[in-house]
Amino acid sequence: MVEHNSLTPSSHSPWFPLVMRMDEAACALVVGGGTVAANKAALLLATDARLTVLSPTLCPELTQHALNGRIHHVAKGATPELVAEHARHCRVVFAATDDRAINRMVAATACELNVPVCAVDDPEPSTFITPAIVRRGSVQVAISTSGAAPVLARRLREQIEALLPAGLDRLARFMQGAREMVGARHPTPDTRRRVWERFLDGKGAEQALAGEDDAARATLERLAGEDTGGGEVWIVGAGPGNPDLLTLGALRLMQNADSVLYDHLLPADILDRVRRDAERIFVGKQRNNHALPQPSINDELIRRAKAGERVLRLKGGDPFIFGRGGEEIEALMEAGVPFRVIPGISAANGCAAAAGIPLTHRDCAQSCLFLTGHARADGTLDLPWHTIAQRGQTVVIYMGLGGVESLCSRLVEHGLPPEWPAAMVEHGTRPDQRVITADLATLTAKVTEENFRSPALIIVGEVVKHRVISSNSPEA
Ligand code: SAH
Repeated sequence: MVEHNSLTPSSHSPWFPLVMRMDEAACALVVGGGTVAANKAALLLATDARLTVLSPTLCPELTQHALNGRIHHVAKGATPELVAEHARHCRVVFAATDDRAINRMVAATACELNVPVCAVDDPEPSTFITPAIVRRGSVQVAISTSGAAPVLARRLREQIEALLPAGLDRLARFMQGAREMVGARHPTPDTRRRVWERFLDGKGAEQALAGEDDAARATLERLAGEDTGGGEVWIVGAGPGNPDLLTLGALRLMQNADSVLYDHLLPADILDRVRRDAERIFVGKQRNNHALPQPSINDELIRRAKAGERVLRLKGGDPFIFGRGGEEIEALMEAGVPFRVIPGISAANGCAAAAGIPLTHRDCAQSCLFLTGHARADGTLDLPWHTIAQRGQTVVIYMGLGGVESLCSRLVEHGLPPEWPAAMVEHGTRPDQRVITADLATLTAKVTEENFRSPALIIVGEVVKHRVISSNSPEA
């Protein structure tokens, strides 16, 4: 009944991030004795691994480590034999001399032995690369650009540094200490995850971050005793297609959902932000191609929520603007399923801003109408033309691409001049956004000529004349 889309996250990379155990049983080799080598040594010295440094000379920092017995120094130049002798026992090797040819020799030797090796600043011969790292004790965030842009990785690290609270390590340790208690009360992974999510969303996390472990434990025990079984439906607006326009509320629910029902308006880079393990169900809904009829979508939402899932109904734009969110809510209420609604930026707002067309402007528009241009099966448009064909207002038409010709001629028939300004925005807010500005007489021809595709939005009114291209417009 439900079409399961094979759509997987769009991201693909030949570099796989993992977190490697580096305990006392592990050895690591750094080849090189300068500051670059010292930086890599510092990373390894933050673990429990035993570290050998192979280099004829050492910089002051490494000399100090050698004197303190923290590293084993082999004071020789790197040869394939020597590298092989040491690398053979190692879990990782860093080639960190200032000579690219030597680094490549080290990399080739380690590769031969199947030992993971990183040649510094040289991804090509490397079998791993070192990420930029943000550390809060046991919590570590590693950032990789797959070797493409180390400066970008460092910039992201700064941003994440600013984001992560200082007490994160305390929180992680608290959660580790309480795992057994929660696990004993909630043997199934799903309800266990919900207890932890409620804990993280509530005051318990604040208490643990602040080091108030007794209070945090009391909070957690209360949560673990509550019934977490009830499912819910979250009706969430995802905005017009640019992930930057997701709300924080939408993102949070996207991260917590067990399953997501989405339609064709949602691009992959928004779906990628849904929790990775959530089941993804494509329910279609395209003009004249309803992959799943609305009653079946309602039934599916209800069925899943009653089975205890937290179901995300992710919709383009705002759920209550031509989004049939209202119908879904009525069905949920009738079935007694709890729900939440998160608004989204509607296509009208998003496209207008991204195209630089103010929807109202003191000089020419005191009101703004949102209409659907979706024609009936027989091709006719049943709209209150006399209210729409008015000066002093802006008319925004959703789903109007197919009926653009008829829309424009009706507006002229009902009194607007043929030279009345009109625009169409295709893929608004997305990097491939296109905009046509024309008038009621010429819009159709231009749209046909430019071969505009769905989704596209029509804006009619004198505000189109006030169009400006801002520096964050996709066309700037
Ligand atoms: N609930 C949505 C509208 C769904 S109806 C909202 O609030 O935006 C689908 C119509 O919305 C499309 O036919 C198109 O007219 C418009 N639309 C949605 N996203 C758009 C985009 N990125 N660019 C242009 N039009 C868009």
